Amino acid sequence: MGNLEERVDALSTLNEKLEHDAKMLRLICETSNNAFLYYNYEEDSVQTIANWNYFFNFPVSCHADFSKFYACVEERYTAPLREALFIEKKGIKSIATDVKMKDSRMWVEVETSIIYDEKNRPTDKIIRFKDVTKFNSQNNELVYMAYYDILTGLYNRNYFVRQLGEFVNRAKDENKTVSVMFLDLDDFRRMNDGLGIIVGDEIIQIFGQFLSEFSSENVIVSHFNSDIYCIGIYDSNGTKAVDAIYKKISKRLKKTFKLSSRQQIPLSVSIGVAEYPSAASNALELINCAEIVMFRAKACGKGNIQYFDSKILEDFLQNVKIENKLKEAVFEQNFEMHFQPQFHTMDKKLRGVEALIRWKDEEGKMIRPDVFIPIAEKNGTIVPIGTWVMEESLRIYAGWKEKYHYPILLSLNVSAIQYKQPDFIESVKQLLEKYHICPSEIELEITESIMIDDFKAITDKLVALRDIGIKISLDDFGTGYSSLAYLKGLPIDTLKIDKSFVDTVVTDENTRIIIESIIYMVKKLGYETVAEGVETKEQFEYLNAIDCDIIQGYYLGKPMPSYGIEKLIERELA
Ligand code: C2E
Ligand code: CA
Ligand code: CA
Repeated sequence: MGNLEERVDALSTLNEKLEHDAKMLRLICETSNNAFLYYNYEEDSVQTIANWNYFFNFPVSCHADFSKFYACVEERYTAPLREALFIEKKGIKSIATDVKMKDSRMWVEVETSIIYDEKNRPTDKIIRFKDVTKFNSQNNELVYMAYYDILTGLYNRNYFVRQLGEFVNRAKDENKTVSVMFLDLDDFRRMNDGLGIIVGDEIIQIFGQFLSEFSSENVIVSHFNSDIYCIGIYDSNGTKAVDAIYKKISKRLKKTFKLSSRQQIPLSVSIGVAEYPSAASNALELINCAEIVMFRAKACGKGNIQYFDSKILEDFLQNVKIENKLKEAVFEQNFEMHFQPQFHTMDKKLRGVEALIRWKDEEGKMIRPDVFIPIAEKNGTIVPIGTWVMEESLRIYAGWKEKYHYPILLSLNVSAIQYKQPDFIESVKQLLEKYHICPSEIELEITESIMIDDFKAITDKLVALRDIGIKISLDDFGTGYSSLAYLKGLPIDTLKIDKSFVDTVVTDENTRIIIESIIYMVKKLGYETVAEGVETKEQFEYLNAIDCDIIQGYYLGKPMPSYGIEKLIERELA
């Protein structure tokens, strides 16, 4: 009996423990926010456990009911779902897949585990359903950010580079070409500054949207940053594919773009093109080459397309080299002033000299100013260089003056950027005082290009300079925007006719007609005329015959160091 009692006790303790364990398991299941489905093979019975109603609004009672799940997920997930639900392959203990629910748009992870008997037959199956919406959407966002540019929705730079790399690899195997178009909106900085960054962003978006129309299986369109976009084209077939896209871009750019504020904005874009395999052998180099060529498009007046050739790359690398050396030269002041004499045509008497800078690099090579001055103007080093030119020229000039007391005029080239410095006039005045030079002894040479930007501000400055007695000369006349009509209002004293006219004056009837009317008109306006680049006796005689006042050129004197000018002054004095 006692034995029976003991067994009853033991059983009820076991029972309590089982109830306790079952409660604990239920609590664990419920608080896990998952739903479970338990299937017993032998009985073909199904039990749903824990948060079933959170996921599904239908019961499942037998194995056949499993197909009810298909109706709740998006269609493309039915195949992986089927695999997870019906898996029975020997040895596979568990399988998981993520599916998206049709109505709730919830992401559900479905994980199935199977238990086998010793003969490897499945006995039990447990399917767990877990809400992974939060995790997946964060993940999707990360994936999005990894591939796309948030502002435009186009592919971002990283993805573009990767994709372009794949194009290049494929092109290697299939013997095809890949082209990159590097696009940079013109004057975007100005629009951004003038209209504000919100409008700037909208412009980037609108243009990006327009470019996205070109994307296809073989064309990837991306936004790099700011106002830069890149298009990669697989199997570009010479310039054909690029030309077709460019044609469409040009056509679109003829019309304005409408902003949300209804404002209409005209856009223009500079494009550089490079092609695999002729320009470069990998994606990054290809993009680099296209960018370099884009700079060429900018330099050619913006709003155009340029194609890569090796000369462009050479020039670019050369410029970079010069730019680096130039910065050193400015620091060490490795420059020298030469002077080219100017003579009165009538009696060949010395009128003055034009100061021309010379740069000897560390290898002793002479670098011409028309190569490095434009670079210095671009990177701003023209300002310290210009200051040095002025000080050094005035110092030398003061030496001649003291030595010979012979009156000649000193002409100095001044770049637009120098003129635009707010303290320009003041610094000229100070230097003149420092070297005891009268303003009337110097002449500043400007080019017409300086006036395009801000005609009024520049002419005001010219007037102020003339008011203190400094002469102003208009350089390179005939090469730029020159129109005789606008000369009338300019505060200048001298006009320099460009060498390109002088070159053809003897051989070309048209040039003679132009040059004669220039001189006639300019004299009427009361300016002096200087002809530049006079190399031959014929040119000189012709210019003398038509009353050109002053001659500068190799025929009468090349640019020379200071002592050469001293010899000329001595000759005048003799
Ligand atoms: P530019 O002001 O038009 O100077 C005249 C250029 O023509 C000089 O070249 C001169 O050497 C050259 N030249 C003069 N006569 C003849 C000739 O008969 N035949 C030929 N073939 N050439 C002749 P350079 O010295 O190489 O200067 C080139 C340009 O560099 C100058 O053109 C000027 O725009 C710029 N530059 C030179 N020095 C300075 C400077 O100190 N400051 C600034 N801002 N620019 C300068
Ligand atoms: Ca000049
Ligand atoms: Ca000139």
